[in-house]
Amino acid sequence: MKISTVRRTDGLGRVVLPEELRSALGLGEGASVRLTLEGRRVILEKETPQCALCGCTENLYTQGESAVCAQCIQALAEMASL
Ligand SMILES: [Zn+2]
Repeated sequence: MKISTVRRTDGLGRVVLPEELRSALGLGEGASVRLTLEGRRVILEKETPQCALCGCTENLYTQGESAVCAQCIQALAEMASL
C-alpha cells in the first residue's frame, strides 16, 4: 500500500498526519514515532519499545526511556550470582 499526500508545515514546523496514515500505522493519540533523516527524506516510523540488550519486543520492563526483557533480566541475574 502506498499513501502519498502533500501537507504544509505550520509556524512551529508541525504537520498533521492524515487519518488514513495514522490508521495504517496504528497510531493512536499519544503514540510515539521515530523520525529519521536520510538524505532529503524524513522517515516516520511507529516507535515500538524493544529490549536494549537483545531487541525483542515482548515481556519488557521499562526504566525511564529504556526497556529490558524478562529473558535478559534473568540472564543478568544469573551472571550477577556467579
Ligand atoms: Zn532482551
